[in-house]
Amino acid sequence: MVIGAGVSGIYQIKRLIDLGFDAEVLEADDDLGGTWYRNRYPGCRFDSESYTYGYSFSQELLDEWHWKERFSAQPENLRYLNYVADKFELRQHMRFSAKVKQLAWDEAAGLWQISLADGDRYTARFVVASLGPLSAPTMPSYEGMDDFAGPSFHTFHWPKEPVELAGKRVGVIGTGATGIQVIAAIAPEVAELKVFQRRPNWSTPLNNGPISAEEMAEIRARYPEIFANCAASGGGFEHVPLWGFWDKTPDERRAIWDELYTQSGFAILAANFAEIFLEPEANREISDYIADRIRQRVDDPAIAEKLIPTDHGFGLQRLPLETNYFEVYNQPNVELVDVTETPIQRMTASGIETSDHSYDLDLIVYATGFDAITGAYDRMDIRGTNGVTLGERWGDGPTTYLGVLTNGFPNLLMVAGPQSVSGSTNFPRAIEKGVDWVTGLLEHARANGHERLEAEPDAEADWQKQVIKAHERLLLRDSKGWFTGYNSNVEGRQRGHREGKVRYQAYFGGAPRYAATIDDVAANDYRGIALS
Ligand code: NAP
Repeated sequence: MVIGAGVSGIYQIKRLIDLGFDAEVLEADDDLGGTWYRNRYPGCRFDSESYTYGYSFSQELLDEWHWKERFSAQPENLRYLNYVADKFELRQHMRFSAKVKQLAWDEAAGLWQISLADGDRYTARFVVASLGPLSAPTMPSYEGMDDFAGPSFHTFHWPKEPVELAGKRVGVIGTGATGIQVIAAIAPEVAELKVFQRRPNWSTPLNNGPISAEEMAEIRARYPEIFANCAASGGGFEHVPLWGFWDKTPDERRAIWDELYTQSGFAILAANFAEIFLEPEANREISDYIADRIRQRVDDPAIAEKLIPTDHGFGLQRLPLETNYFEVYNQPNVELVDVTETPIQRMTASGIETSDHSYDLDLIVYATGFDAITGAYDRMDIRGTNGVTLGERWGDGPTTYLGVLTNGFPNLLMVAGPQSVSGSTNFPRAIEKGVDWVTGLLEHARANGHERLEAEPDAEADWQKQVIKAHERLLLRDSKGWFTGYNSNVEGRQRGHREGKVRYQAYFGGAPRYAATIDDVAANDYRGIALS
């Protein structure tokens, strides 16, 4: 049983059906698409180059699909996933509106007992959890939230029906990658926009543009090279990092950054000097450079300073990419409300009350993020051997073997799970690798008559060491982002990484090292996995 019909689940079911497994997908939503089905807010789009985001597994698909924009938007992305599912006739293997409430391991039978919210039950020998790392949205809790008279919703729950924005007074809470996209997209349309910002994020231009038929033909011809480049790079992109920060003069570095700032996507991060992620001095210099860029784009110097992060360096939290985001604050209809200075006190029928002002609003958008990476697992009642829940097991942070298995939860395989590279690299590239590996393991089990597989504790402990080592090298180890498990709206995660219990949520050793490690495990009879 595959749980989730998002980018991972779609490819996972294709692989299993092709190999003749008796497999099915359970999806809580009423249609497929996962993150691209849910996140319908204006401005929602890839920040991976479209042609590095799409699946690579089918030459026909690569030949047929024309990405229209360098960074394609949500409606097109959802169309793409539907196209894939229809082309390969995958829908018939998916059951929608099938919300899994509980997974309980039945040791005597060697099966997972699966209970759905609607009371239906299934059993499965193996469960592949394709739950997505950013699928458990989190909301703040303020007094009076239910009293607000207008519509209010999390960006993940942006309605399917068109939302009237013209002439409206809109409040957006949150300035992560989502907030930054939605703010820039709606600012030209709404009558008034109040942005409630607690901590600013670094953000740099996406530099999006159309892809013509000729360009798409060139991309098609280059696909093998594109995917090889992605597989060879730490972040799963085509960008290649530089080394030798200190070999250049400050002027030479600035010239390189001037060029990177005009390039598209994550070039400014992934084609930058690797030292910026490792050495405080190098990070300070690039942070100062990006801060100056923000100052150049925002007319009011006081507002510019508020938009510049001071609690973390550039690239040490997940970098949001933007289109005209900073210019939005030059518009007369947009106001930045610094809720660190004047905290939100409550919601009222008419809007948001901070410590010094009442803002009258017609619509409130919560761009307040996710219980990232482990949240979707925690929200499901997953009981392994001895009835321990996965949430309990991971209370102080996840531990896994290769991000795929965890001891005490036999036959539960995670695609893009905690401590894999899915959270830290170009997502679909990591997914395809993960799905292929999980599929290989299932084929191996089938071929050898194994009905139970479980991560060995020693192997898991060893992987934990590798995850910690890769993480601790990087300056991001001290940041308060979802990479490191921070979330102000989840009990026990409100503090920074160092101030609280450290959660090692993702593997930061890079995609090639991760791929080499899991391939080596497979080549050695799945070392570290007890097969019986
Ligand atoms: P996020 O990065 O966690 O940001 C959440 C924002 O909400 C933060 O600014 C946070 O402020 C703020 N917030 C939360 N509770 C608040 C409160 N009570 N009062 C004021 N502010 C509050 O979440 P996200 O923006 O949804 O992005 C999550 C991830 O999704 C991204 O990092 C990215 O990986 C993915 N994403 C990808 C794309 C894309 O591919 N293009 C687009 C959007 C999102 P604090 O920082 O102060 O807590």
